[in-house]
Amino acid sequence: MRIAVIGGGYVGLVSAACFAEFGIEVAVVEAQAERLAALQKGEIPIYEPGLDTLVASNIAAGRLSFGSDIAAAVAGAEAIFIAVGTPPRNGDGHADLTYVFAAAEQVARAMTGYAVIVTKSTVPVGTGRRIAELVTRLRPELGFDVASNPEFLREGSAIGDFMRPDRVVIGLDAEAAGGSPGKVGRAQEIMRRLYRPLYLIEAPILFTSLESSELIKYAANSFLAMKISFINEMADLCERVGADVHELARGIGLDNRIGSKFLHAGPGYGGSCFPKDTLALMRIAQEAGASSRLVEATVQVNEARKASMGARIMSACGGAVRGKRVAVLGLTFKPETDDMRDAPSIPIVHRLVENGAEVRAFDPAGMEAARPHLPPRGVTYCTDALDAAAGADVLLVLTEWNEFRALSPSRLRSLMRGRVVIDLRNIYDPAAMAEAGMAYSSIGRPRSHPGEPLGRTGTEQGLTG
Ligand code: NAD
Repeated sequence: MRIAVIGGGYVGLVSAACFAEFGIEVAVVEAQAERLAALQKGEIPIYEPGLDTLVASNIAAGRLSFGSDIAAAVAGAEAIFIAVGTPPRNGDGHADLTYVFAAAEQVARAMTGYAVIVTKSTVPVGTGRRIAELVTRLRPELGFDVASNPEFLREGSAIGDFMRPDRVVIGLDAEAAGGSPGKVGRAQEIMRRLYRPLYLIEAPILFTSLESSELIKYAANSFLAMKISFINEMADLCERVGADVHELARGIGLDNRIGSKFLHAGPGYGGSCFPKDTLALMRIAQEAGASSRLVEATVQVNEARKASMGARIMSACGGAVRGKRVAVLGLTFKPETDDMRDAPSIPIVHRLVENGAEVRAFDPAGMEAARPHLPPRGVTYCTDALDAAAGADVLLVLTEWNEFRALSPSRLRSLMRGRVVIDLRNIYDPAAMAEAGMAYSSIGRPRSHPGEPLGRTGTEQGLTG
């Protein structure tokens, strides 16, 4: 079996490598010359655990190739996956479909026979049908179907998520799905064959309408974002009433109806998906004349949360950071990735530098990706966490990389000039920090050190930035 994947970014590259691992011949088309050149040399332009070996072994086995010639890639392909970016459109929150339609047009012009055109990109409801119209208009003689196959992988555990997914969702219109109950259409048969290894491990494969499939992806991400905003609000409440958000999360998460995942309080969600997908869902609902008040509230809570972090940090630093040396541990939006899209570190580091702090930053994978997003002056990039901590007045944890968890409070105490530790990911034990003499503040937990309560938001303090 042969397929083509348009776009060699996070989703395209991981999907391509995993399909190749299933034994399928995969041709990836990548438009960015630099990225393509790296891929062709066997270099992986993103940090994703296990991806380098998976790509290398499948290139060596002759199943995975990278190029820019779309005609060569789609020749003989039974399915053509569109895995290009869908960033927010200039300020209005709609998903920008420029890359998707450009790719669909290139595919339509290059196809020589029947194939299923599959959107892996996250696209608004109706996009699959618009792609079908576009292809029909450009190539009225061509046989093809469209399918929606949203991707649910998480950066940092993408390969495991692709190989052992909670579910696979495949949207088809009625004809592509066979036309009547009990019949299997050509597109459905191809999609089943493609995912056969997952049938064997009994991963649920859900066939839906095109519209349901397109909406499922947005609904899933918006629900998870809502869970995060919920626990963040609860964390603020915990601080006010003397409760502990970890105990609260465990207490509610053990209820199967709630579940324990995505109940980690922090500085607000970021990353390449939640911020844009929640906004896009609001626009989809708005255009459909439906309300999306919970998602709107989720977005507002998150924006306020992110804005309040600067004030929280200032307050934990005694009101000002001018002349203070601040060690920042973690820059990426989450661990095990080098993705900086919408990372909380970006506004926070800018704020610190603008207010006169000397920032010493370290991230295990994201240093290069972070540079263009951070202030050109005022940030020193360190060789490791201890190098960053050496001589620092304040230690600020922004991403919960495992290697930061292992740092001993007493070692930090001996290395640092000051003793303020601000942990926005709750990776340290408040008691251990107190014992080492640190002035430790975290999120939604009783403070280890007597001082100002941390619950006041930036807006209340007029310190948002
Ligand atoms: P990305 O920006 O990392 O990758 C997109 C790639 O497509 C880029 O390398 C770009 O050069 C290439 N490209 C664009 N137009 C092209 C064309 N016409 N021909 C060839 N290559 C082209 O984006 P991503 O993070 O992989 O996201 C892709 C889609 O998947 C988005 O819709 C996103 O919402 C969705 N998604 C992302 C994730 C994630 O964790 N990153 C998870 C699930 C879904």
